[in-house]
Amino acid sequence: MEATTAPANAQAESSLGFFGQVNRMFDEAAAHTDHARGVLHQIRACDNIVRMEFPIKRDDGTIQVVRGYRGEHSHHMQPTKGGIRYAPSVNVDEVMALSALMSYKCAIVDVPFGGAKGGVCIDARNYSQAELERITRRYTFELARKDYIGPGTDVPAPDYGTGEREMAWIMDTFNQIGDEDLNALACVTGKPVGQGGVRGRTEATGQGVYYGIREACSYEEDMRRLGLEPGLEGKDVVIQGLGNVGYHAARILEQGNANIIGIAEIEGAIYDPSGLSVDDVVAYREENGSIHGFPGVRNIDTSAKALELPCDILVPAALEGVITTENAPSIQATIVAEAANGPITTQADEILKEKTMMIIPDVYLNAGGVTVSYFEWLRNLSHVRHGRMSRRFEERNAERILRAVDELTAEDFNEELMGRLVEQVSFGAGERDLVRAGLEDTMTHAYGEIREIREEKNVDMRTAAFISAIDKIAGSYEQMGIFP
Ligand code: GLU
Repeated sequence: MEATTAPANAQAESSLGFFGQVNRMFDEAAAHTDHARGVLHQIRACDNIVRMEFPIKRDDGTIQVVRGYRGEHSHHMQPTKGGIRYAPSVNVDEVMALSALMSYKCAIVDVPFGGAKGGVCIDARNYSQAELERITRRYTFELARKDYIGPGTDVPAPDYGTGEREMAWIMDTFNQIGDEDLNALACVTGKPVGQGGVRGRTEATGQGVYYGIREACSYEEDMRRLGLEPGLEGKDVVIQGLGNVGYHAARILEQGNANIIGIAEIEGAIYDPSGLSVDDVVAYREENGSIHGFPGVRNIDTSAKALELPCDILVPAALEGVITTENAPSIQATIVAEAANGPITTQADEILKEKTMMIIPDVYLNAGGVTVSYFEWLRNLSHVRHGRMSRRFEERNAERILRAVDELTAEDFNEELMGRLVEQVSFGAGERDLVRAGLEDTMTHAYGEIREIREEKNVDMRTAAFISAIDKIAGSYEQMGIFP
């Protein structure tokens, strides 16, 4: 599952709604570009949205009608791409907003997809596995009949409340109803590795969050401006949400020598300024059903309260709308790293802008998931695992070089030293290594691009990220000749 913290209402804050808020950020960025109004309107619009109601049989024999959606925001690239979330709060406005964020996210990291998002209005915790399977299969069937799924049409992935199990059901259902399609595996990403998934997809969003934060902390002048030392090491981090994104981000940040001082989940939060071990906290929660009571910590009543803890980096990694006008003035973090989609409302954003702080925006920071989804989709279309053809060759090649060096400098080498060198140097990259390297390169490169725009236009990181997306999407419309 991609996250587990309780849903918040993103619309509570504003009559704009969530999609309206995304569009406001878009408009603010668009004002710094010189694209024609028509082009900007086309980029901003949500192309298609479908709503369905379908019956499913509960385990007790009763019939329940379930509501689902899929929105395709932009077709400037195809297929469209984006997750499917299972949450009671799913609605048209949210699906449109999240599909728009997907379009911008893909553009920012140069992943050649349009944006989409889907959702089913259920609280997955209230359904048995068999019921969830029936819901997922029926939802997939509805998508297929409406032409909202397919390797070249629209490719779902996990999101809040769904994971690789649901993706395997989607793939299997699509396979059963479609004609023989060699590329059918590529109809969905985030699948289990044994069923066409790619190694490294599960942790990809969290891993990308880590690379993004590490990049931000690596610029000395940016850190000095914020009154921080450059580098991630020793930075105090508070993280909200121990779902797939939050857990992996926290774990990898900890490995990168950040100091995880606060962790929040549905039941509340814990705080320990001397640092928490993420895996120990997760193990404790599994055993006790709550993070509260973890040895040596201060317990905090609510997840929301944890957002106000003093820290260097705050990572909201659950759902949208958790930082509002109400709590924005009390946020003490110097960097807010948006691992979740839309955790800060537009109004709260205005308040935070007044502070000496930096926001690393969601459209960039959580793009690791879709980046690795792209690698999975490519793997499915090429029908070969990344690294399968080249790994052994790379190893042999490095070994050949070492042996040649050995011959040139024969007297310094002996077989034992040679053996050790061969082991250390002649390493052929496996799929996980390639995926991670591709992700690191993508996140680093995109950060550099956004930062450059920020400096050039004198804007904040979010506006810079939107400008990057708008320029790239406008560029592809212009290339298509739709807007000469
Ligand atoms: N649901 C994830 C997101 O919001 C992943 C989407 C994908 O991999 O297509 O970015």
